[in-house]
Amino acid sequence: MAAESWPAPAMALGASADQACLPAQANDLEALGLPEALPPDWRQRLLGAFGQALEGQRGLRQALEACVGCGACHQSCSFHLGTGDPHNTPQGRADLARRLYRRHFSPRARLLGRWGQPRDILDEDLLGLWRAYFWQCTLCRRCTLFCPLGIDTSLVTRACRHILAQVGQVPGHVAREFLGILGSGNGQGLPPAAWTARHQALEEELLRETGQAMACPVDEQGADVLLIPSPQEPFSQSATYKGYAKVFHAAGLSWTTSTYLNQASNPGLWLGPRQAALVGRRVLEATRLLKPRHIVVAESGQGWAVLRNLGAVLAGGLAGEKYLKAKEPLHICQLSSRLLKEGAFAGVLRPQALQGVKPVFHEPCQVARSGGLGQEPRRLLKAACLGWLEMPKPVGGPLTLCCGAGGGLNAPELYQVRLAGLMPLARALAQAQRRQGCTAVVTMCATCQDQLGEGLAHFGLGLTVHGVHEFLGQALYPSRPAEARP
Ligand code: SF4
Ligand code: SF4
Repeated sequence: MAAESWPAPAMALGASADQACLPAQANDLEALGLPEALPPDWRQRLLGAFGQALEGQRGLRQALEACVGCGACHQSCSFHLGTGDPHNTPQGRADLARRLYRRHFSPRARLLGRWGQPRDILDEDLLGLWRAYFWQCTLCRRCTLFCPLGIDTSLVTRACRHILAQVGQVPGHVAREFLGILGSGNGQGLPPAAWTARHQALEEELLRETGQAMACPVDEQGADVLLIPSPQEPFSQSATYKGYAKVFHAAGLSWTTSTYLNQASNPGLWLGPRQAALVGRRVLEATRLLKPRHIVVAESGQGWAVLRNLGAVLAGGLAGEKYLKAKEPLHICQLSSRLLKEGAFAGVLRPQALQGVKPVFHEPCQVARSGGLGQEPRRLLKAACLGWLEMPKPVGGPLTLCCGAGGGLNAPELYQVRLAGLMPLARALAQAQRRQGCTAVVTMCATCQDQLGEGLAHFGLGLTVHGVHEFLGQALYPSRPAEARP
């Protein structure tokens, strides 16, 4: 199906209101320390949580106060472009919170009290809109770049998710992922034995594929690198994960993962500050257990952005950890880029291994707009691939389009919303395929990889999807054809 014939969005208010996450089970809410779904006094609780959020976050009040309704943000949001639903514009989404803000918390509301106010508008209909539309935003922050006042709608989305949690309105998949991390160190709930067995299997696969014996240790103390993987690794995206092992092997660095925390992304951020800190603190605790020289975050968009921007707040800071050579976490692309500059891959790197592959680079939102990385992945791609492409202008750099699946939208029941959110990016990729002849997409976020792999097949784009370290690893130690393996 050609991109031009993809269905146009419905362009109707409430067109995607029925696309909502399945709710968390009562026992999961209890384990999270959150109230049952919609307790009898839910209105008071919700307003109380709203008031506390406004007191704790000046930026939230500013975002709700400052909007002048100019509409400049509307075409920035992939979910509005994909669904056509005015509730899915950044303004429309935040207006769902502004309704309550203006009624209960604005300076005018405080001045007037209840006198002269319209009827109370906090009912189950409004709550249903919150449940739907604050989970149809990936917190990608693209709208911030289009708003003349710099309003950051992701602040509103995150605060409203926290407020919803205070009345037991939590998506089931987020609750399970969070509890999985507290129970087994990862959102999939994999026990340490399964994690270790997977790493032993990876060593065998790497030996068979490359002829090189590469270690994939688990829970080793004093390694050069403690790697914190993305949630999908090392299972569904093992090619990228093997790329990390190849980099460490080529550079002569020892590395390990921790069974206490082996997931970089932090689902606590969608539940509340206490839950975000519980996961963030695990980074520090895992580090203290294993005492590595560097903490390195894998190709995980949210995991990197949260640890880089909020790590000190959530985990308490690393300054006192004497064994750490770097007191800040590094992104794997930063580390590999430094190694490349220092000549660690000299004589090993052969970009000819990727001859015939012409990838276009999709920059993940969390990396381009919140992660402070841009040159490092490009330097690695330049070294690993003979020809790679930038996204067609103006979709690149800080303006990169969202894949539609980050920010906790990775639930099966949100499949249609994710496809709608992906559509603008899929159109840009179809253009890159048609005009520039790209054959693949390369990115540096495991969620983008999953979403693009599934979504581009749906849209009929014959592009394969890869990680930056998958390509770098291939250029370092290419996989031998199956018939040439022992
Ligand atoms: S943060 Fe991204 S998904 Fe959310 S409203 Fe803004 S542009 Fe849309
Ligand atoms: S661009 Fe900014 S001020 Fe204009 S409608 Fe959007 S959020 Fe409001």
